Amino acid sequence: MGYREIVKVGDPVLKKTSRKVEKFDEKLARLIDDMKETMYKAEGVGLAAVQVGVLRRVVVLDCGDGFKELVNPVIIEEDGVQEEQEGCLSVPGEYGITRRPATVKVQAQDRNGKWHVYKGAGLLARCFCHEIDHLDGILFTQKVIRKD
Ligand code: ZN
Repeated sequence: MGYREIVKVGDPVLKKTSRKVEKFDEKLARLIDDMKETMYKAEGVGLAAVQVGVLRRVVVLDCGDGFKELVNPVIIEEDGVQEEQEGCLSVPGEYGITRRPATVKVQAQDRNGKWHVYKGAGLLARCFCHEIDHLDGILFTQKVIRKD
């Protein structure tokens, strides 16, 4: 399959809650590979499955420190506050400042079902929060505190 079309704001699917992944099969591996290709082609730093129209709790991201795939991700710790600019591949041309934790710890499975713990600060922490929000039907535009 490869590249998949990115769903844009206005499509009701973006407001839906994604379901937990239970089957770690070939279909999941293909979805993750397609999301990876789509994210890099679109020059994004993160992509949630709902953004390609699949309501499963799957996220891919690369904030400049390597590719990560997160299946069923959960934020297990957060600390501090940061206010930085955010954007989204599903909301082209729109940016705004959001308030996010300065650091987060995330627990997630990979395509084989193995659990990992990731720590993120700065952009990576924002990215974890932004993408996990997508899995609960939340867009960054709902969290913008100011536009400058
Ligand atoms: Zn987004």
